[in-house]
Amino acid sequence: MPATQLDSAVLSMAGAAPAPVQESLRSAALLKAGTLQAAIFNTAAFSIICTDEMGVIQLFNAGAERMFGYQADELINKSTPAILSDSLEVLARAVVMSREADAPVSPGFETLVFKAARGSDDSYELTHIRKDGGRVPAIVSVSALHDLAGKIIGYLFVSADNSTRKEVEEQLRWSEESFRLIVDSVTDCAFVVLDPQGMVTGWNAGAQRLHGYPENEIVGRHYSRLYANADVEGGVPQRDLDAAAAQGRCDGEGWRVRKDGTQFRAYVAVTAIRDPLGKLRGFGALSRDLTERREAEAAAANAKTLAEKNQIANAEFLSGMSHEVRTSLNAILGFAQLMGTDSPPPTSAQKEGIAKIEQAGWYLLELATEIHDLATIEAGRLAWSLEPTSLADLMLDCQAGIEPQAQKSGIRMSFTGFDAPCFVKADRTRVKQVLDNLLSNAVKYNQPGGSVVVECSASNAQRIRVSVTDTGAGLQPAQLEQLFRPFSRVGQETSAAPDARIGLVVTKRLVELMGGSIGVRSHVGKGSVFWIELVAAQAPQLAPADAQLVALAQPAIAADAPPRTLLYVEDNPANLQLVEQIIGRRPDMRLLSARTGPLGIALARSARPDVILMDINLPGMSGIKAMQTLHADTATAHIPVVALSANAIPRDIERGIEAGFFRYLTKPIKVAEFMETLDVALEFAAQKASPAPDRR
Ligand code: MN
Repeated sequence: MPATQLDSAVLSMAGAAPAPVQESLRSAALLKAGTLQAAIFNTAAFSIICTDEMGVIQLFNAGAERMFGYQADELINKSTPAILSDSLEVLARAVVMSREADAPVSPGFETLVFKAARGSDDSYELTHIRKDGGRVPAIVSVSALHDLAGKIIGYLFVSADNSTRKEVEEQLRWSEESFRLIVDSVTDCAFVVLDPQGMVTGWNAGAQRLHGYPENEIVGRHYSRLYANADVEGGVPQRDLDAAAAQGRCDGEGWRVRKDGTQFRAYVAVTAIRDPLGKLRGFGALSRDLTERREAEAAAANAKTLAEKNQIANAEFLSGMSHEVRTSLNAILGFAQLMGTDSPPPTSAQKEGIAKIEQAGWYLLELATEIHDLATIEAGRLAWSLEPTSLADLMLDCQAGIEPQAQKSGIRMSFTGFDAPCFVKADRTRVKQVLDNLLSNAVKYNQPGGSVVVECSASNAQRIRVSVTDTGAGLQPAQLEQLFRPFSRVGQETSAAPDARIGLVVTKRLVELMGGSIGVRSHVGKGSVFWIELVAAQAPQLAPADAQLVALAQPAIAADAPPRTLLYVEDNPANLQLVEQIIGRRPDMRLLSARTGPLGIALARSARPDVILMDINLPGMSGIKAMQTLHADTATAHIPVVALSANAIPRDIERGIEAGFFRYLTKPIKVAEFMETLDVALEFAAQKASPAPDRR
């Protein structure tokens, strides 16, 4: 705004003596000034206040009325603008002014106009106080008004409401402050701010901890100081910054150096900082020491490996020990039995002694076997596979095993619910072990003349329950709690039979491995019910398409040729029946079968089959062991042995092939694959049997 016009306007308003100027110029100026004056005074956007040279308010515009809440006539000729400002701020400003001027400046009107009075336009931030006490942050600009001779005759205060800007500033300050607090409180990460040239401008507490430099030693230095020498020589720091500038961000692992020269492996992310126009303003580099984490990870991994090794070592120790114990016990039991048949016959006292040796020996043998089983399970080395298994069929086997023992103790056994073929998803050998254990306990811990009831029923559509009810002494609640824990010695105090019942621990683990559950209910004096639940399964059967394939199967060789022999070693009759169905359609083939490894080996030696089909999980001896035994024997070494197992994970298959199987087939049986493999094996067998090419 033109100062001369305003000056003359103010002069006339302030009632100062008119200057000696030409009349025409003066009225033109006044006219202009009047228009301008009206415009200025009527604006509500700014507060405009004029004072005389002493600070008494002479003019108070509409904007001022709005900002301060006073009417003009309440202040004109009565007050000074000093009362319209926060007195503490005025006091603080007075202190600053006094220091600058090296002379006391009084904290009032003098403070507000101190600079303006000395010839410089002044503007500053100040908080205005409204009539109602409200506070208005404002930017105030002050100018001195001079007469034509240059003498100060008054002051002009123009104030603009600054509250919006103040709010924004405050928010910004808070967000910057909280960001700074966050960055500073992160002590496991280094946060470094760089200018566009890579000079450090910011450094948090984490950076100090990680790199060892206090802020004042690093700010102003180049970022490359934190890199390993070799990297600096290779230009890596600049490459990182260039990459961040080009892509916005660059991260990765690298070596970083501490103040003391030691190095550490770090993960570093460098982000380019750009202003809204896209101009590069610098970089933020965040880094984290990987050493500590790596060490922690390595320690955890070591601890885990050690624990696993210990467990395996324990299991190996236990299994080795139980093997030794069994070998010795076999000798002890063998000689004890021989002594019983010696001539002259032993005396009755000797017989009693021999009986005790035998009793203790059999108990120890059983215990050693159970410890071996438990150790194998704990080490995760138990071989088992789940396939549809008929409980009805299985129970016939169990029944044949337990009945002689029950008859000896005068205990009646009854089996109900096994007439329908109920199939469960289980490992036949392991379920048999479980049921044998439950049945043998039920007989062992029964009363003379008692009974055992074995029942099979569906608990729901998915689970089949087998319960074994005895008429024994029953178990106290405290005993029940201890029942499935190793070496809990339950039963010892109530029964003559020395038994740590470790078998129940093995039983529980086995049932759980097969996805089942086990439980017990007991009434002291009446007996106990042990039950297991297993996952129900469909009977294994050929898919319709496979059944068709079987029906269409044609003999691979001429009808007059002698039939080829296939030996199938399998403990699960359901699987045997399936293979019988398939082979039954081929008049060129004869099927032999064995339920265990040793029986299979014996049959192979005597019958010399062309091809052997071998289950892997068999009772007593695994199919792998049986196959290796056959291969080690010159009489059977030439026979191709095809594995047929429910263990279908690739590692099992690889292991099987490595172990020496001709092929490895998985259950459920796929007929096309089965037939094809059989033909390949038969062909192989024929070549082995007649190595001279001219014979065929
Ligand atoms: Mn099996």
